[in-house]
Amino acid sequence: MRLLLMGPPGAGKGTQAKFVAEHFGVPAISTGDIFRANVSEGTPLGIQAKAYMDKGEYVPDEVTNLMVRNRIDEPDAAPGFLLDGYPRTLAQVEELDGMIKHTGHQLDAVVVITADPEELVARLLQRAQVEGRADDTEDVIRRRQELYAAETEPLIAVYKERGLVHEVDGMGEVEDVTKRIFDALDVVPQS
Ligand code: ADP
Repeated sequence: MRLLLMGPPGAGKGTQAKFVAEHFGVPAISTGDIFRANVSEGTPLGIQAKAYMDKGEYVPDEVTNLMVRNRIDEPDAAPGFLLDGYPRTLAQVEELDGMIKHTGHQLDAVVVITADPEELVARLLQRAQVEGRADDTEDVIRRRQELYAAETEPLIAVYKERGLVHEVDGMGEVEDVTKRIFDALDVVPQS
């Protein structure tokens, strides 16, 4: 199973990614999480990424693509993977197409979590108080949303043309959203 989870910042991708990946027995690969782990370990990748992340800008494609390529090459991703937060640009879509084609597989589905933008700002400001993420300040949140709308949202049309997109309403309780995702993917969740 090769899945993508898309949606604006704060839509709940990371939360849902874990449930969905677990159901399919594949790793949930979050580019944001990998970047943050590198930032906290102070690796060269982390130092490079931090400058972009703190401003809410995208890390350059070459850096992100190489990181994802290496992660997908790990043995645990051989049966499949769920990508959360990648691809975000057209160049990343093309790169991912190449990576998947190279393994002789194909992309199975793209789940898009939709949400009301103002609700998302509120959610992220709330999260800032709990997690203290450096990029959860109001200005940076708005920049991340702006970039999502300009650079990433248009990618949904690309995947729609391929007949892969399942749009799911991300508002409401976490369990309800999970259920909507499973319904959309036509799977029976394990209890
Ligand atoms: P969010 O979706 O809420 O903005 P993430 O944790 O997914 O949060 O990503 C945090 C940051 O990591 C992004 O703002 C960006 O700087 C960087 N990042 C994550 N994924 C990508 C990607 N595919 N391309 C470029 N930058 C990325």
